[in-house]
Amino acid sequence: MEVNESCIFPAEDALELILMFDRAGIVTYANTAAEVKLGYEGGLCGIHISKVFPGAFEQGEDRLETEFSFGKEVKKLAAYRGNRTCFPVEARILLQDKPEPEVQGHFRMSDRESGDFGIYICMAVDILEKEFLNREISQVKQEAQLALKVKSEFVANVTHELRTPVNGILGNIKVLLGEDLDKQTIRALQMMERCCGDMNKIIDNILDFSKLEAGKFTLEPRRFHFRNMLDYVRSNHINKLTEKGLAFFMTVSPRIPEYVIGDELRIVQVLGNLLSNAQKFTSVGKITVEAVLTAQVKDKIELFFMVKDTGIGIDIEDQDKLFQSFSQVDASISRKYGGTGLGLTICKQLVELMGGRIEVASEKNKGSTFSFSIWVGVSEEDESLLQPDHIDMPLDMAAFEDEAIEDARQFGTRENRKNLEKNLSKLILCVEMENWEKAEVFMDTVRQLTQEAPGEVRRMVLRLKMAVQKENYDRIMADFAELNRVLQIQGGG
Ligand code: ADP
Repeated sequence: MEVNESCIFPAEDALELILMFDRAGIVTYANTAAEVKLGYEGGLCGIHISKVFPGAFEQGEDRLETEFSFGKEVKKLAAYRGNRTCFPVEARILLQDKPEPEVQGHFRMSDRESGDFGIYICMAVDILEKEFLNREISQVKQEAQLALKVKSEFVANVTHELRTPVNGILGNIKVLLGEDLDKQTIRALQMMERCCGDMNKIIDNILDFSKLEAGKFTLEPRRFHFRNMLDYVRSNHINKLTEKGLAFFMTVSPRIPEYVIGDELRIVQVLGNLLSNAQKFTSVGKITVEAVLTAQVKDKIELFFMVKDTGIGIDIEDQDKLFQSFSQVDASISRKYGGTGLGLTICKQLVELMGGRIEVASEKNKGSTFSFSIWVGVSEEDESLLQPDHIDMPLDMAAFEDEAIEDARQFGTRENRKNLEKNLSKLILCVEMENWEKAEVFMDTVRQLTQEAPGEVRRMVLRLKMAVQKENYDRIMADFAELNRVLQIQGGG
């Protein structure tokens, strides 16, 4: 008696519906939850289990048929109330006290008459509310997805339409630049040409982003020469890097086959974006690109790229935000360097489409390393060149120590003065030659090199920068002379 009570009382209070039935399918016990939810007049005891679960049990003349796997299986069933309405449950049925080896499939009670099979315990959870909520969630999700799709399609259409007039302006500027024009008009046209180029880059980014968001982006893999691709990336950036006085190194593992199969254009896009950022945010030091082979599975290899700079670095708390859409580390940075904050988001999505991931390791005022992996194919003829078991270990991503570069960034040090002098004289040279685009690059570097300078110097640099932006030759020369004088005093020169 005591044993039975300890068995039944916890079941009695349970929120689950608990039913016991004998080998003939006759219900012998139902807890309060079952009685209340199923509402059989006169109670559940004595009725056949197939009345409650007609989809799961059938009452034959001498047999109870079921597909149920007793024990572990949790099955979704329709539980029928006394009034023949039903609600969904998740049910598990145990066979108590009697281990029965063959637990699945049809069985005839009459075939087992001789055995003692104990009782069946059914535990069922009412999932009506859960299902209702799930339906609501999936409806909200569907609506949100549809809204996102509509928005993305709209953005894609608008940006596509924008491209036509921008290219129209660009074409006309090119024609005009071929004419015999005065200096001032040429400068104005060149400025317009630059603006159109920038606008096209933004349009491209928004277009890529909206396609990626709408899931409409497809990769176009084909066989390409890996090192030629890297040479192309190098040639796209080397001028800007060297003009800025930055050293540039590229290392490629000899284990990477000559040809691989992947979307070359998109790999170039990711590398190009990371390199542009590295160049944009670095005033002194070097930028390195490393490509290694990190894994091989059949005819697929994993390539790992690192783009490392010795630039301004990123605070640890800002690093998480980097790969989110439209996010820039801070507003002052975006004002200073421009950009839409879409570059890294696009990189992340492209890299993920290529089966990899992108990460950042960075230290404020020391530098940043952006790394990403992708999977590419290797065609049969190149596969023989692969050495199985030979993969590369990439360099430490987070190693940023470099004393000379440290010194260069610290205002007042010998390295810093040397770099300041170099960049200021390049700036003036560009001003003399009226190369305003390059002048702004050197101006940015001067600003970075004086970030830790006393307020007086920083204010002068800002004035000089504004004069450069306005292309005001006389103002620039006056501000430069004044800055030079103060720097000489500060440096004790
Ligand atoms: P954008 O197109 O505006 O450059 P990105 O997504 O490429 O946008 O970069 C987002 C922000 O991440 C940048 O505005 C900058 O604050 C930060 N960032 C990216 N790369 C670097 C880097 N190499 N060094 C320092 N900050 C970086």
